[in-house]
Amino acid sequence: MQRCESCQRPFTWKEIQKTIRWNYKPLVCGKCGEKHHITIQSKVLFSLSIAILLFIFSLANLAFNLRIAVMIIVFLTVLLSFPYFAKYKRDEKIKQKGKKGK
Ligand SMILES: [Zn+2]
Repeated sequence: MQRCESCQRPFTWKEIQKTIRWNYKPLVCGKCGEKHHITIQSKVLFSLSIAILLFIFSLANLAFNLRIAVMIIVFLTVLLSFPYFAKYKRDEKIKQKGKKGK
């Protein structure tokens, strides 16, 4: 599981899970307050794994109802296991834009 790059505190599954709903939010360390952003590779991995799994199931000859159910299960499985694979980077580039920089 990802750790805070600043204080090495491990993030919890729940903390990471919260950041991947709808739009990727920054992951803020509960101990030192350091912001982390998800890497592009993680975003790509997330989208690709869903796309590939859905593609595989779309080839299978399933009934329509079953297909919808499988899609929901695939999506949830990827979403729930995502915190174990996601990589986050300390928010350094954002600071240069002068957004509440220290
Ligand atoms: Zn920290």
